[in-house]
Amino acid sequence: MSRSERTAPGVGRATWAALRARRRAVARLAGWSAVESLPALLSGALVARAVDGGFLAGRFGAGLGWLAALATAVLVGAVATGRTYRSLGAVVEPFRDDLAARVVRAALREATRAGGRPDSAAAARLTHQVELVRDTFAGLLMVSRGFLFAAVAALLGLLALDPVVAALVAAPLVVGVGVFLAALPAMVGQQRRYVRAGEELGRAAAGALSGHRDVRACGAAGRVVADVEGRVADQAAAERTLARMAAVRGLSIGVGGWLPLALLLVAAPWLVDRGLTAGAVLGALVYVTTGLQPALHALVQGIGGGGLRYVVTLERILRTCPDDDAPTGLDGAAPAPGDGGEPAVRARGLTFRYGVAARPVLEDVTLTLPAGEHLAVVGPSGAGKSTLTALLSGLLAPQAGAVLLGGAPVDAVAPEALARLRVLVPQEAYVFTGTLGDNLRYLRPDADDATVAAALDALGVRPLADRLGGLDGAVTPSDLSAGERQLVAAVRAYLSPAPLVLLDEATCHLDPATEARVEDAFARRPGTLVVIAHRISSALRARRVLVLDGERPALGTHEELLATSATYRELVGHWDDQPAASPASARRG
Ligand code: ATP
Repeated sequence: MSRSERTAPGVGRATWAALRARRRAVARLAGWSAVESLPALLSGALVARAVDGGFLAGRFGAGLGWLAALATAVLVGAVATGRTYRSLGAVVEPFRDDLAARVVRAALREATRAGGRPDSAAAARLTHQVELVRDTFAGLLMVSRGFLFAAVAALLGLLALDPVVAALVAAPLVVGVGVFLAALPAMVGQQRRYVRAGEELGRAAAGALSGHRDVRACGAAGRVVADVEGRVADQAAAERTLARMAAVRGLSIGVGGWLPLALLLVAAPWLVDRGLTAGAVLGALVYVTTGLQPALHALVQGIGGGGLRYVVTLERILRTCPDDDAPTGLDGAAPAPGDGGEPAVRARGLTFRYGVAARPVLEDVTLTLPAGEHLAVVGPSGAGKSTLTALLSGLLAPQAGAVLLGGAPVDAVAPEALARLRVLVPQEAYVFTGTLGDNLRYLRPDADDATVAAALDALGVRPLADRLGGLDGAVTPSDLSAGERQLVAAVRAYLSPAPLVLLDEATCHLDPATEARVEDAFARRPGTLVVIAHRISSALRARRVLVLDGERPALGTHEELLATSATYRELVGHWDDQPAASPASARRG
């Protein structure tokens, strides 16, 4: 089960804290609920009296009198219902205010941090989610306490009529509620899958729309359409499963609500033989049909509908706004790695395998990178270096464990916000047909000419830019060598606002001197740098080195690892034996 499959324990805690913080309002709500349940407590007993002591005894007036007493109880109950809503507001509205304040604080933090931008769409989405939590929380409270008081009142009334009748009703009721509660975790999981499928569909569709030019230019329309279609199918499948699960609700209502009625009808002759009066049998039926059945129906439908939405929505708010004091990553607005003293990267217990039955590429890997870290990752081919960078940058989701960038869970940050958190440069550089300026400003469209020029100088790419005719010069990807394409991609990443840069063999086509200049420029750039090394020089330049070799990863400085890691010693020896790459590889080919 992946991290995101688990129910956030914070939902239970947050709900409990909201109730405890408003103890008085909750006590008032309970008090009015008790009064509201008066008809449920008295209905059967009053009907039994009206029948036995009134209509069947030929005392019509007395019968009507008992029914009038019932009508009075119903009126009192109705007044109490009105008061419960007032108490409900006193519990629910402050909870909503707390959540809304949390969301706004997080949005403000994002908007005021260095390089941050106000993300009104994310704030609006979260505010909508807060309203949804408010409504579903209110519904959940109403149906839960309604069921609790009505069921207890009806069972007490039944107990007063006849303990055997109470047992006949209580046993199937307990089984029915038990069936529903047992299925609840699976329903929550399914609801979560449905919500996630919807979000992923939205993201895929938005990505396809905003990148339609690139998609067409790369001839990838078929693949992108297939991807979006796959996500539509995923969401439809999740919704169908959710609908099928509604059958559990039916089963629960059938067993808990209708079975007691059937048992009472079947056992009626026997009960009458035991001395139960006709009025008492009728009273028991009234308890079940007007008290228990509607309360159970409301509970099951309320929890099975709004209750599931409450859990999943609150879970998302709590996950994207972890808590008020920690730096917060909103859905679409996340903090910069290293803000607020948080490590730039925190990976805990990462386990990843490419197939269900495949051997894990990484198992239980834990890694913390402080802001400003310069790490080189080394290891034999296939050790999982690229897989690790994909996990750290949120392109792959681990089967176990979690990645936090600046305290924000990477899987909770929307893609556009993720692009402002980290930039991953792969070995195969992506360069598109257009001007050099368009290519370089791709991740930071607002970069002015002076900023772009400074980046070109820092990375030593000015000669290439001049040859291409400056920032307005046309770029045709096939006319550039692999090394030149890597230089363009490197300047683009250097300009991006992301404080975390991951270079996955992104300079492998450059000669050692150019590679050193590029890496040095990234090391001087404010932020955190992770380099998948393909030469020993990259490891020597880094502050620390991570060795992946299929066993436990080893982390340390170059000197420490020479002393402690046989794999590292072997890799260093292997690299030392290699001839230096030809500088010509960085030139046009
Ligand atoms: P290299 O230095 O050769 O790039 P690496 O250390 O970066 O290797 P990864 O690319 O992370 O290693 O691959 C780790 C393992 O996972 C390898 O055995 C590889 O074959 C496997 N692997 C990588 N990508 C996939 C994939 N998409 N599907 C299945 N297996 C994969």
